Amino acid sequence: MRYTSTRGGGAPLHFEDAMLAGLARDGGLFVPESWPRMNADEIAGLAGLAYEEIAFRVMRPFIGGAFADDAFRVLIERAYAGFDHRLRAPLLQVGEETWALELHHGPTLAFKDVAMQLIGQMFEAALTRRGARVTIVGATSGDTGSAAIEAFRGMEAADIFILYPHGRVSEVQRRQMTTPAEANVHAIAVEGDFDDCQAAVKAMFNDHAFRDKMRLAAVNSINWARVLAQSVYYFTAAVALGAPSRPISFAVPTGNFGDIYAGYVAKRMGLPIDRLIIATNRNDILHRTVQTGAHEKRGVAPTTSPSMDIQVSSNFERLLFDLHDREGEAVARLMRDLTGNQGGFTLSQGALDRLRAEFDSARFDEDEVAALIGRFAAETGHLFCPHSAIGLGAAIAHSGPTVGLATAHAAKFPDAVEAATGRRPALPEHMADLYEREERITVAPADTDFLKRLIVEKARA
Ligand SMILES: *Cc1c(COP(=O)(O)O)cnc(C)c1O
Repeated sequence: MRYTSTRGGGAPLHFEDAMLAGLARDGGLFVPESWPRMNADEIAGLAGLAYEEIAFRVMRPFIGGAFADDAFRVLIERAYAGFDHRLRAPLLQVGEETWALELHHGPTLAFKDVAMQLIGQMFEAALTRRGARVTIVGATSGDTGSAAIEAFRGMEAADIFILYPHGRVSEVQRRQMTTPAEANVHAIAVEGDFDDCQAAVKAMFNDHAFRDKMRLAAVNSINWARVLAQSVYYFTAAVALGAPSRPISFAVPTGNFGDIYAGYVAKRMGLPIDRLIIATNRNDILHRTVQTGAHEKRGVAPTTSPSMDIQVSSNFERLLFDLHDREGEAVARLMRDLTGNQGGFTLSQGALDRLRAEFDSARFDEDEVAALIGRFAAETGHLFCPHSAIGLGAAIAHSGPTVGLATAHAAKFPDAVEAATGRRPALPEHMADLYEREERITVAPADTDFLKRLIVEKARA
């Protein structure tokens, strides 16, 4: 299995090189050359298996010769050993035909741990074998950064720099990034929004001299290995609810489009997913795209679901690639329109029809989100974080069996949950002392050159 760029440039790479590089050299994202298929019997055969075994079977065809089967199994076991639920990603019924898929049982209480813990294991194994080091640089709207730091802290083969928007992440998210004391961990508060952070990271990767000198690696949601690891729980959930004989829909609280794209990957592999529902907060570029075909940037408005406060959805490029017959030139043109003065593009009718053949969308204002949190607390007794409430709100409005992804623990966003319900969610035991741990905060301007100098200065390589 090899991976090509969504913009058509460069030679195809094997799994491990695509994982270590993160972003293709032409600025595009890696996608597999073809989709491995699982037939109905193979999918039915997943029922009742452990999460780790399903993960192995789903991901195996994508990794080629990167890891021997036994070694890959060990990496998967280690990745999920620290989760605080035996099932890793349990389902909770919240309505007659609606379930919450709890993805927040990892060390930083958000779904990003599911992929990041595995990426940490795979990076360490690959770099140790190669005798190589990397500098991981990433932008975060909150949860990616804490999950990445948790996965890479203390690792010999990597320094990790995470740029987050100053003052725009929750206190729990910030503390998870600023309290690890390991020398290879650097959390940087950038004076700007998430898109400024992401633009700085992209600019560093597009500076090939800097990229090579620092051996930059990305573990953002654009990393193919992350998408792949996230496709696993679509299988575990669908099979638990009766797939392949019963098609299931998924409603996904969406920001960078990584999580829902993983559902699309599962569907391409043969999992009978009915609808994929893009659920957004008022930063709704993707909802507007599905409704009108116009993909247009607008300013970012801060919300109670900050991990979805974005105006550019990086992984949408991967879907655009398929919507345009996998023609890199067409995607490169659209991305130029998006980043240029036009600030967007309009999908052709054909591309829009294909998008709508797979995806629905829903959008929730802040008062609607608060109402949903309150409603689910009253009806189920459970507290859901604002992101999860958005996914579940879209799920409950959809007919047929539908799973809403619960992407973070309520205690990660306690103020919003308390405001909506009058109940303050408590942190799980293993994080109870988070508010007492000492923080290290570095504030920096949203200036790529400044940030590059900072990284050169602080990296151990
Ligand atoms: C990252 C994140 C999202 C959005 O996921 P994408 O893959 O960026 O679409 C939703 N909810 C939470 C809690 C997150 O951390």
